[in-house]
Amino acid sequence: MTAKSAAAATLATVYGYPRQGGGRELKKAIEGYWKGAVSADALLATAADLRLENWSRLAGAGVQEVPTGDFSLYDHVLDTTVAVGAIPPRHRAAVEADPLDGYFAMARGTQDVAPLEMTKWFDTNYHYLVPELGPDTVFTANSAKAVAELREALDLGHSARPVLVGPVTYLLLAKPAPGVPEDFQPLTLLDRLLPVYAALLADLHEAGAAWVQLDEPALVQDRTPAELNATARAYRDLGALTDRPKLLVASYFDRLGAALPVLARAPIDGLALDFTGPAAANLGDLAAAGGLPGKRLVAGVVDGRNIWINDLEKSLSTLATLLGLAGTVDVAPSCSLLHVPLDAAAERDLDPQIARWLAFARQKANEVALLARGLREGTGAITAELAANRADLASRANSPITRDPAVRARTAAVTEADARRAQAYPERAEAQRTRLGLPLLPTTTIGSFPQTSELRVARADLTAGRIDSAAYRERIRTEVREVIAFQEKAGLDVLVHGEPERNDMVQYFAEQLTGYLATRHGWVQSYGTRYVRPPVLAGDISRPHPMTVDWFRYAQDLTDRPVKGMLTGPVTMLAWSFVRDDQPLADTAFQVALALRDEVTDLEAAGAVVVQVDEPALRETLPLRSADRPAYLDWATVAFRLATSGVRVDTQIHTHMCYAEFGAIMTAIDELDADVISLEAARSHMEVAGELAAAGYPREVGPGVWDIHSPRVPSADEAVELLRAGLAAIPAERLWVNPDCGLKTRGWTETRASLESLVTAARRLRDDLAG
Ligand code: GLN
Ligand code: ZN
Repeated sequence: MTAKSAAAATLATVYGYPRQGGGRELKKAIEGYWKGAVSADALLATAADLRLENWSRLAGAGVQEVPTGDFSLYDHVLDTTVAVGAIPPRHRAAVEADPLDGYFAMARGTQDVAPLEMTKWFDTNYHYLVPELGPDTVFTANSAKAVAELREALDLGHSARPVLVGPVTYLLLAKPAPGVPEDFQPLTLLDRLLPVYAALLADLHEAGAAWVQLDEPALVQDRTPAELNATARAYRDLGALTDRPKLLVASYFDRLGAALPVLARAPIDGLALDFTGPAAANLGDLAAAGGLPGKRLVAGVVDGRNIWINDLEKSLSTLATLLGLAGTVDVAPSCSLLHVPLDAAAERDLDPQIARWLAFARQKANEVALLARGLREGTGAITAELAANRADLASRANSPITRDPAVRARTAAVTEADARRAQAYPERAEAQRTRLGLPLLPTTTIGSFPQTSELRVARADLTAGRIDSAAYRERIRTEVREVIAFQEKAGLDVLVHGEPERNDMVQYFAEQLTGYLATRHGWVQSYGTRYVRPPVLAGDISRPHPMTVDWFRYAQDLTDRPVKGMLTGPVTMLAWSFVRDDQPLADTAFQVALALRDEVTDLEAAGAVVVQVDEPALRETLPLRSADRPAYLDWATVAFRLATSGVRVDTQIHTHMCYAEFGAIMTAIDELDADVISLEAARSHMEVAGELAAAGYPREVGPGVWDIHSPRVPSADEAVELLRAGLAAIPAERLWVNPDCGLKTRGWTETRASLESLVTAARRLRDDLAG
């Protein structure tokens, strides 16, 4: 097939679209249903209206093939679990009694039955419900949702392509069900699962699907030869089916690497590849694999995860190269548009010039449609649009927001020495011990205290103008006074002010840093009905004024015990924001780090003896491919040290991380060079203390002894037992006593009781150690 005839067939498509609706209708309907205020019929009608609206918007924008089945009342992986009949035994009765309530029970649990575990969808901030499988799992096909949604779209006259999570990714995302040995590999169930996919495909075919998309993002991660063989087998078997639609296997979030030739050789009809960022390596890999002669290539050239306009000319040139490599080339965003907000046009508060740099889901749909038209009709057909795009890109590149010479000069002048404490750890430890004078096994907390409804009301009152900022500050002061008084009474050694003034640990800083933008309607699904509004790292970052010093000073003046200064680290600031696409992440991280460094210096000058810089996102931001990890961990640790190394020898730097699996980043944790690190450990019975000790970690550690994810109050005996386990790995001189994480989601009742247990446990062990 010649390039010209390939170009003639080019379509625009997308893999998925934001679910919630412009007015967050879905969230309201689902939460209303949970409260009993919205009927099941009304909820389902709202959902159907939203699907209809999404498809007509897409079609109206010029997207010729719309996705179906990407819509979900909670999560598309949970939908797949339902479609393959892998309902955990503990939820079966509820699902049989009422599929909708049973579905939500799997997602959220009930009084008596635990939900499925939830975890991050690859390296996005979306969370899916983890399938629970075991050797006894029996799969059965349930195509009801997939078929119904396809029919809806077809009945409306759309050309539609159902999207399902592919069988290999589904199994690779699963974990052993409760009671099944830990080493059980769900992928061993592939032969049992494939006939179920065959049945789903047959049902969709019969319902009128010409194509079905099977999403296999797990193949962009490092995969073993056995996993690649399983992939080859899966698509050989599915490809060999006679009663099936054409198969499009979609990959996104990174390059396919070794899986690319496997899929290129498989008897499937098309492949969707990501060509953005590091995934651009797919281009050379595809050529090396001999391309996809006679097949369909869907080219993800518009970044589906950031919120910036596309460089249309660059995309057109990528697409032109691809035309020679496949039978047909279609244009798409790199992944589902689930990961971006709905509509940049809703951001009416933004400077109109800046608003023109932004592309949310609606704008990205326009971009892929335009690119497809350029390919079909020639760039002459889209000259005006290309000129406008060029102008917008130039306005962004040359804007003083994007390039602040002072910030650039400062980052350029950073030296290796700026990112190192002036003294080695032993000297610091000695100086800090003398200055702080803490007992053995010092007690502290991670930062936040319960975010009570009074605090939320105060913030809402301030936003709505019902109270002024002086009144708001007074309410926060009252809270700080109570938090400090409680900690003194409870006998904690290193206090916190409780973070009552912070709506969110990233947003609070983003609002005060120059170069960050806030959106009004930029909601993105985090999980279920929880949506977040990540701030936008739009330009060069600087700190016009101190951000936390007044609150620190207020708290420290109330007590003679040390109060921790409390900041969010550079990696976490990036991880929970939309990042720039016009410079390396490391450059942005260093700019944020320098702003934080000034804050640390100001806190120190205001009397802070301990400053904690939280990096809960350090591990979750780890690149999907292990080959990319060393470079990431390198800039991430430099950024942290840049933020924290400008302090005196006797100022103690703490850091905090939340997750339980640290193995992959043990070296990086050491390279942060923090004097004290607190981490989650209660559930795994202090396992991490042993891992740190085994890795020769030389500094102080606070493995959490209270699992704050549950309202359960640990007894002092329990805490003693956990601390004994900790002491088996870490000497008493280097062990801290603290909860797993911040307390903002906890209530005051369990907070009081639990912290009293912790203090009692520490005292008991101190006596033991003394005696
Ligand atoms: N200092 C923060 C808090 O206590 C840390 C939160 C986190 O680790 N996610 O809330
Ligand atoms: Zn935490």
